[in-house]
Amino acid sequence: MRSLPQENTQRLSNQLGKTMATSTEDIIKEIQEIYCSDSMPWVVGYSGGKDSTASLQLIWNALLQLEPEHRSKPVHVISTDTLVENPVIAAWVAGSLDMMKIEAEKQGLPIHPHRLTPDLEHRFWVNLIGKGYPAPRNRFRWCTERLKISASTRFIQELSEANNEAILVLGQRRGESATRDKVMDHYSGSTRDRLSRNSDPKLSRVWVYLPVETWSSDDVWMYIMSEPNPWGVDNQELFSIYRGATPDAECPVVVDTSTPSCGDSRFGCYVCTMVSQDKSMSAMIQNDDEKSWMQPILNFRNKYLSVNDWDVRDFQRMNGRVKLMGKENPELIHGPYLQEYRATLLEQLLITQKTVREAKVPGHDQIELISIDELDAIRRIWVEEKGELEDLVPKIYERVYEQPYPGKPMETPLLEEEDLELLKGVASELDPEAADRLYRLTRNLLAAQFQSLQTQKRSKHLDRLEEVLKANAFRTEEEALAFAKSTELDQDENEPADGEVELIPVVAVETEEA
Ligand code: SF4
Repeated sequence: MRSLPQENTQRLSNQLGKTMATSTEDIIKEIQEIYCSDSMPWVVGYSGGKDSTASLQLIWNALLQLEPEHRSKPVHVISTDTLVENPVIAAWVAGSLDMMKIEAEKQGLPIHPHRLTPDLEHRFWVNLIGKGYPAPRNRFRWCTERLKISASTRFIQELSEANNEAILVLGQRRGESATRDKVMDHYSGSTRDRLSRNSDPKLSRVWVYLPVETWSSDDVWMYIMSEPNPWGVDNQELFSIYRGATPDAECPVVVDTSTPSCGDSRFGCYVCTMVSQDKSMSAMIQNDDEKSWMQPILNFRNKYLSVNDWDVRDFQRMNGRVKLMGKENPELIHGPYLQEYRATLLEQLLITQKTVREAKVPGHDQIELISIDELDAIRRIWVEEKGELEDLVPKIYERVYEQPYPGKPMETPLLEEEDLELLKGVASELDPEAADRLYRLTRNLLAAQFQSLQTQKRSKHLDRLEEVLKANAFRTEEEALAFAKSTELDQDENEPADGEVELIPVVAVETEEA
């Protein structure tokens, strides 16, 4: 692994302080003044990237220079692991948080690192493979709220409510992008000189402080490469992670919906389809033999995660509705991934995980691309919510690993494999053109009946039957298209023009329904 040559570090060090818009000393002084001026706890968003590293390093050094009796307020460092991060970055951040904990205690600093993860039902694979949400795209970016915002917002919200207010420190800089500048303008002009109110109403008790907002990317590098990292990580290693990757666009710590997109960045999720390719993972593999073990992960991402997925999605949407897109040659807006594709995704993901584990790369030989908890959640969604009585999750697992499925036991479905095969045979005899659809309808009705017997919740039984009938109302896509065209004029004019936006209910609605 190459690192920044010594002479470059020296050159950067010589320049430090001469060219920066605000000198390191001034920022450290400012941090000390803000820190000592009230009793509000601090939350520092840490992504492991250079900007948040620089911010935290400045805060760490500012606190270290204070007399111990003045280091009274807690500084919480939060880092959200989406569980679909580039594994090298995820390991770097996790290691860095561990070192922070040890060093903060040793140095007597009230710095508390926290690794946050999304709740099980918000995780990427549970939604993509379990529910069948299509890969994230511009018009349908369902992931950021679930993977990044929800966990950090909850942490900050709870802390600010318990303490009346809190200060959120972010590593954002001006000049990175017009969008980001706009957000930062919004933060400016506060009643407290260097602090501004957070724009998210859920975080109304939170003040935002951006210590390196006047620095350029070079300023940040100059600082972190010329001063030793106070919690002991090697900033040169961070530099080598950046080496050869995409232009400067670090994934910001996302705390609310006003934050700029996290898709187009080197520290984003490896599954991200907001960008056409994961350039950072490709660059890491290309530039460093030690990282070539990630190739199977990159192959999986490139082959199976794509926004060109029309043909593997149901022509009806999750709620059974059909909706048109386009004026001249209208087409149906497709819904969730079909069962077959979800099963393929799961099998290929498990094969990828097994392949990477078998390569026995130190530190990554137990890599978890998908956890057993997530597999259990997917299994429950497939069987209980989607009525897929084939119960494929354990079968896929056992096929890949040649070991019994290690997840939680589940109530055995009503029908055996032979019964379902028989049902398929009857469906194809009765309606060869739409055999799959007929099979699905019959199986799902049986599943609804089974659930009703199991849970004794008869009151909901009729609603469930209605949902199943609606979701399978059309034999073929042509029939659904003709129906949608014939009823187009009756559709509510106030509905969003982009039907895909409402393809899947937002989190709040789902919670209500649960
Ligand atoms: S990096 Fe991409 S996949 Fe991850 S949360 Fe952001 S937009 Fe979604």
